[in-house]
Amino acid sequence: MVESWPSKIVAVGRNYVAHARELGHEIPVEPLIFLKPSSAVVGDGDDVVYPRQSHRVDHEAELAVVIGRRCKDVAAADALAYVRGYTCANDVTARDLQEIDDQWTRAKGFDTFCPLGPRIVEGIDPGSVSVVARVNGEVRQQGKTSDMLFAVPILIAFISGIMTLEPGDVILTGTPPGVGPVQRGDLMEVEIEGIGVLRNRVV
Ligand code: MG
Repeated sequence: MVESWPSKIVAVGRNYVAHARELGHEIPVEPLIFLKPSSAVVGDGDDVVYPRQSHRVDHEAELAVVIGRRCKDVAAADALAYVRGYTCANDVTARDLQEIDDQWTRAKGFDTFCPLGPRIVEGIDPGSVSVVARVNGEVRQQGKTSDMLFAVPILIAFISGIMTLEPGDVILTGTPPGVGPVQRGDLMEVEIEGIGVLRNRVV
C-alpha cells in the first residue's frame, strides 16, 4: 500500500528473458515501458474485479519500487538514493485484450488491476530477492530479481530520462516466467523476500 497516491505507475514489460520467451516475444534491447493509471491501485486484502470485457485475466508478480524524492535524468550510479522503498505488486493483465490491442492501456488499466502492498520496506537489495506468485496456495511463479534484464538502477535512470519521477510514483519492474490465468474466487498472492505477502481475491 502506498503512503501517498502515485501520480503515475511506470511498468516495465519483458524484463525477464524467460517471461519474454514464454509469450513468444523478442528480448528487448532497451527497457520497454508502459503506464498503468493510478486509478488501478488497490491495497493488500482488496478485491481485484474481473472485467466483463475479458475472458483471460493473468497474475504478474513484480517487485515495485516506490520513489521517495523527485528525480529527473539521474545516473544509474545515483538512482537508488531516490528510492523510498520497495513493495510487492501484481501487474494484473487482461491477456486477451493485450493481444487484440496494439498497446496495453486497456489490458492493464482496469480499476483494481494494480494491487500494491502490504508495506513499503527499505534496505533490501532490489537485485537479489525472490519473487513468488501463488494462486489458491499453488506456486505459479518463482523468480529472482537477479534475472532482470535491466536492473532497478538502470530502470530509474532510463525512466527519469524520459519523465520526472515524483515522490510516491511507482515502478513495476517486470515479471518472471510462469504467468497464468486466474478465475473469479481465486486468491492471488505475491511474496517477495524481505517484504511480505500481498493477497488479493479475484471477484
Ligand atoms: Mg508486468
